[in-house]
Amino acid sequence: MQDIREDVWIHTMCARCYAECAIRVHRVNGVAMEIQGVSGSTQGADGGLCPKGLSSLQVLYDPNRLNVPLRRTNPEKGIGVDPKWEEISWEDAYDEIVPRMKKIIEEDPRKLNYMGGTAHPGYPTGIADPISVLGGFSGLFALGLGLHCGNAAHPIGGLIHGSWSIVPDFKYCNYAIYFGASKGHGSGHSAMTAARMVADAKARGMKLVVFDPMCNFAAGKANEWVPIIPGADVAVVLAMCNVIVNDLGIVDEEFPKLKT
Ligand code: SF4
Repeated sequence: MQDIREDVWIHTMCARCYAECAIRVHRVNGVAMEIQGVSGSTQGADGGLCPKGLSSLQVLYDPNRLNVPLRRTNPEKGIGVDPKWEEISWEDAYDEIVPRMKKIIEEDPRKLNYMGGTAHPGYPTGIADPISVLGGFSGLFALGLGLHCGNAAHPIGGLIHGSWSIVPDFKYCNYAIYFGASKGHGSGHSAMTAARMVADAKARGMKLVVFDPMCNFAAGKANEWVPIIPGADVAVVLAMCNVIVNDLGIVDEEFPKLKT
């Protein structure tokens, strides 16, 4: 049997989405064995973790995970062209990259462009800012999730709510209506933080009504699921507005004038 030289729990945070839930990792002889949430922490879901976070060990020890520098050896580029990556040491990578970065900084830092995604805690300033401070460059290109979800969600959130993100005010909300959303039920920003807030709101008595053709995760736990015809969301919302404004006359007229 192998000697146990080390048996420690290390407090850190999950880096698999930007909820950044507080976790502790059980490490034995240098090998991460188990991940647990941290009860009582306000970072994340007060001890709860999602399956993605709990499966981090599979990512960490995935034999296909890229954790070494690769150098492209085929200068020819194009669809279907093999880049012919070759594995190099970190020393060789630094020897190759550092002189080039120094040269660029001396010439014109704007030639340097940083590329990163949103689904990691470094987005965007955590990594970009230190590099940009060092190099004085201003280029930042956020790809992946930043383009796919952000282009839809953030401008609308900004226009309607004056907010980057869109999360119901779960601490005070008494009646939440979702259209094709499942915030707090395993998706959206700060997934597990929102999940805890929804759970607390429901325990407080908040009612949840979900309009969705599919009985999604939120609908399955809602007080009421309304299985509308796909694409009928806008018609339903306009009908509701019609009743509120024209039939009941209970609209807060100042709100749309001043705050939307
Ligand atoms: S919500 Fe899940 S993936 Fe995101 S930080 Fe928390 S445990 Fe990790």
